Amino acid sequence: MRIATISQRLCLISGGGAIDVERASSGRFGSDPAAVYPRWQEFTDWAASATLPEPAPFAAEALGSPSPSPRQVFGIGFNYSEHAAETGFARPEIAPPVFTKFPSCITGPCGEIALPPGGHTDWEIELVVVVGRTAAHVRSRAAWDYVAGLSVGQDVSERRLQMAGTPPQFNLGKSYPGFGPVGPWLVTPDEFANPDDLELGCAINGVQMQKGRTRDLIFTVGDLIEHLSAVAPLLPGDLIFTGTPSGVGLGRNPQRWLSPGDVLTSYVEGIGEMRHTFVTSGPG
Ligand code: ZN
Repeated sequence: MRIATISQRLCLISGGGAIDVERASSGRFGSDPAAVYPRWQEFTDWAASATLPEPAPFAAEALGSPSPSPRQVFGIGFNYSEHAAETGFARPEIAPPVFTKFPSCITGPCGEIALPPGGHTDWEIELVVVVGRTAAHVRSRAAWDYVAGLSVGQDVSERRLQMAGTPPQFNLGKSYPGFGPVGPWLVTPDEFANPDDLELGCAINGVQMQKGRTRDLIFTVGDLIEHLSAVAPLLPGDLIFTGTPSGVGLGRNPQRWLSPGDVLTSYVEGIGEMRHTFVTSGPG
């Protein structure tokens, strides 16, 4: 099953079109996408058995994040060996580095993203996990039972602010408005032959920058849910940005940063593609 936010309304995606959930369920489920995650099991049971109307076409520009207002957004650092190496950090062995992207940075899968002035803004394609059940002290082997689905994400990062300070605190440099695009929709884990092995990548102006596979994650989706939920209960609708493979601008020689007019396309196999254009931020 695939769900999306279209014009701020919860929709099912079917055959390239959309079905409005509030109308198709005669109001049993509301239009607010955030409200469905606390009722995820009930919702998936309904969607599997309901008689649904014909899907209607929709404009990609109307898509928002499938979880537009998560209460918690977890980011994972250096979760692919080659990315840890390109940034000069040690490969994490015992526990993954964890930071947050403040929820106000979450946005949809297409449109414009403003570059902070004078910044060194970088790209990070990532698999994003959307939580579907409150998860506290969950073991890795049971972790997929707590996942509503998977989506494509970009952990957009302003490197000067991210690396400022001793020790560096990543959170603010990764939380400018628009720095957490997610989409184009959520795909439930049962749709993948192996949800732990998906190709992901991104390109700038059509030139490939990153390409990897999630089987190379040092800490798997299950490991991350075990590690995070041992401390903070994961809540329905929460997002986990699972880390990026190599090929970011910071690790290039010479280094490269996003410029006004750059078009960034980002994909994960079996989910779909996002497309963003970077622009200068307005005066002030
Ligand atoms: Zn990242």
